[in-house]
Amino acid sequence: MSQKYILSCNQCNYSSEFKIGKSSNQEAWIEKLKVQIRENRFGEETRLFLENHPDVKINAFWAVYTCPSCGRIRQRVRMRMESAEKSFAYRNYCDDCGARMAQVSDIMHVHCPSCKQPLIVETF
Ligand SMILES: [Zn+2]
Ligand SMILES: [Zn+2]
Repeated sequence: MSQKYILSCNQCNYSSEFKIGKSSNQEAWIEKLKVQIRENRFGEETRLFLENHPDVKINAFWAVYTCPSCGRIRQRVRMRMESAEKSFAYRNYCDDCGARMAQVSDIMHVHCPSCKQPLIVETF
């Protein structure tokens, strides 16, 4: 199950909700991800890996990513595909500036994308 977090800034009006963890119905979610990969929603490289390794096992969970370049915070899928012979790690890129995003390791210490203040974290 995923855990929900609300990140908000007390200096500006930034507030956003995120979830971290696996889906409550992980098997169905993985099947849905496979469909989205085939629709090319995770990029060409990811689509080809699945196409070339139909035996693949997908490990995925919801994660929070930040952009080291523009500071945006985004809800993304952390995904790894393992086939008998090869593995593939999906990389998340920023929609706004194209930089490779980094997974947030500690949700309690994230800074506001607008004013750079430490964000207040509520969990429920
Ligand atoms: Zn702020
Ligand atoms: Zn960016």
